[in-house]
Amino acid sequence: MKGYVFHAPGQSTWQELPDPAIEDPTDVIVRVDAVTICGTDLHILKGDVPEVRPGTVLGHEAVGEIVETGTDVRTVRPGDRVLVSCISACGRCGYCREGMYGQCRGGGGWILGHLIDGTQAEYVRVPHADLSVHPLPGTVANEDAVLLADIFPTAYEVGVLNGRVRPGDTVVVVGAGPVGLAAIATARLFGPERVVAVDRAASRLQAAKEFGAEAVADAGEDPEQLIADLTGGLGADVVIEAVGLPETFELCTRVVRPGGHLANVGVHGASATLHLEDLWIRNVTITTGLVDTHSTPTLLRMAAAGRLPTRQFVTHTFPLDHMQEAYDVFGNAAETGALKVVLGVPQHEVVPVHPTV
Ligand code: NAD
Ligand code: ZN
Repeated sequence: MKGYVFHAPGQSTWQELPDPAIEDPTDVIVRVDAVTICGTDLHILKGDVPEVRPGTVLGHEAVGEIVETGTDVRTVRPGDRVLVSCISACGRCGYCREGMYGQCRGGGGWILGHLIDGTQAEYVRVPHADLSVHPLPGTVANEDAVLLADIFPTAYEVGVLNGRVRPGDTVVVVGAGPVGLAAIATARLFGPERVVAVDRAASRLQAAKEFGAEAVADAGEDPEQLIADLTGGLGADVVIEAVGLPETFELCTRVVRPGGHLANVGVHGASATLHLEDLWIRNVTITTGLVDTHSTPTLLRMAAAGRLPTRQFVTHTFPLDHMQEAYDVFGNAAETGALKVVLGVPQHEVVPVHPTV
């Protein structure tokens, strides 16, 4: 088979590889029918995630068909169409018992495209299959479902739920990439007074408006002033960091109101300064998190009911073997207007409803 292999920061190739095989009785092999690229994959290519060993197939989001199951797999069988979650879960450890699958101590957690070979390939081995893949209803198309592997549960759990968005809140989302846009969309499920998006790319701010942000601010101008003006000088009830840079995290700590919540979603590769000398007196709650994907079944039901703007994310589609081109387009989003690139879906099946970005 072929897959997209990380060799070193800045070096990766679509290349021939041995087919994956069942290694443990709880494994399945999935034929990848649709796969996407995550901002986190770009972090890996930059060298921000040093645990990724040279030779690892990247990717942690896919939709495909089960082609083989280990002898202990109970919930899926060959021929089933499934969503491959970015998080695998043993289901037995203390964390899994609490639904905190991202922290699984039994061999799960974020392993695909991180600690073991991932989904940007023709086939992928998924360990602990019973809790790590989700059978898909026929009503959810591949290019919609693949967005529920990572960005929707991430934005919803680590951003919106950790940030405790409530009706009437002012919610600021810093970073209007796919994760930030999914945070805007899922924050709106809670009836906030307004959502404000901050980004430095005009195309992303335009997308934020289309996903429902009432106000947008260019990060290069004065987002702090805009947020102060909108909130009577107080700051936002909830601030969601969806970039992963020291300066954006630090901006978030300056625009959250006393008693507010700052939910960090971004993957950080460098240390940020925590200004405790300003924050200690402000009763601010700061949360961090790796997505658990405990919300995936809920999000799948919502997608099947047409309640999530999944298709709006898909700006570009490619055949699976155009992986490098897809990375180039996704990695240059400010110029290409890419939100999510989906590989493996026949071109004619996707009608972008997002032509302006
Ligand atoms: P992305 O790179 O597509 O989007 C980041 C956005 O931030 C872009 O729109 C970019 O223009 C904007 N940006 C860059 N610098 C900025 C600045 N100085 N000020 C304001 N905006 C700026 O990434 P994404 O796929 O949307 O993911 C967002 C973050 O979430 C990434 O760090 C990703 O690794 C992380 N992530 C975390 C988890 C988790 O479990 N915690 C899971 C998935 C992704
Ligand atoms: Zn576990």
